[in-house]
Amino acid sequence: MKKILEVDDLHVSFSTYGGEVKAVRGVSFDLYQGETLAIVGESGCGKSVTANSIMQLIPKPAGKIRNGRIVFKDQDITHYNERQMKEIRGVDISMIFQDPMTALNPTLTIGDQLTEGLIQHEKISRSKAKEKAIDMLNLVGIPSPEERLKQYPHQFSGGMRQRIVIAIALICEPDLLIADEPTTALDVTIQAQILELFNKIQQQTNVAIILITHDFGVVAKVADRIAVMYAGKIIETGFKKEIFYEAKHPYTKGLLHSIPRLDQKDEKLIPIDGTPPDLFSPPVGCPFTARCPHAMVACEKVYPIRHENSESHYVECWLYDERVQHMKINIKPKE
Ligand code: SF4
Ligand code: MG
Repeated sequence: MKKILEVDDLHVSFSTYGGEVKAVRGVSFDLYQGETLAIVGESGCGKSVTANSIMQLIPKPAGKIRNGRIVFKDQDITHYNERQMKEIRGVDISMIFQDPMTALNPTLTIGDQLTEGLIQHEKISRSKAKEKAIDMLNLVGIPSPEERLKQYPHQFSGGMRQRIVIAIALICEPDLLIADEPTTALDVTIQAQILELFNKIQQQTNVAIILITHDFGVVAKVADRIAVMYAGKIIETGFKKEIFYEAKHPYTKGLLHSIPRLDQKDEKLIPIDGTPPDLFSPPVGCPFTARCPHAMVACEKVYPIRHENSESHYVECWLYDERVQHMKINIKPKE
């Protein structure tokens, strides 16, 4: 399978009046054609900043890539300027955001919005572009596409609008689609339909997808691989099965416990106690120490060395390091 994207040791910070926020602190992952990587974590963990960095959409000059590399189809795009990014954005890499309404222009017809990028980047005729727009609306499941092209965004329901946004994102046949919480604004039934649509589109186009979400239910439906982020780092990553059935990191386990189960109606969500650390001055050791029921002396002092549970499943936690394990000194014994 062809490698589409490589993110290597990415560090992103934001300058603020209060100091420098280290939002992403050494994130690395690869992405291959036709696969979906879900980046999961609580808000503020750096998942959106990671996605926005790939697109060079972090607000400048406050936001800055401090270190690391982003390689897209063998090209180092880490420091591409706006002109270079314009040739890639929406063409080779597309992005979908949470709210479909803000992504669409209320004053233009769906047809114009679908064909705009195509005419601009692919230099094709209007009639050819219209044909392609109809094909795309068919692909995303909008009935009577020919008539619908003449309509405006307000004439569509929320779920339909998100389908249109997806059609626009895919019309130039990108190799990579980044979707940041694409179903959060939709109700549960529509959400399920849109997630199914992602799977269908991927089968038909082989596009690689990065899905940013805080919702493990969404992950279960679409991800091939999962990267769990906490305090600006990927603390565990693996194939979906490895994360769902063999999670190692106490934080991942905590997140999985907090998913409501459909078969147990009254089961309460179990939130993880405490809050993530302040990223102005992130802890030197494991950032989960203050919330972790297994925290040991080593955890507070040194950031954990990556443990390979399998070739595809990594975890950054001292619990799996034999040298630390034999010390067995808990700083916060379980009550
Ligand atoms: Fe908990 Fe220590 Fe593992 Fe961090 S390194 S998750 S504090 S056991
Ligand atoms: Mg976000």
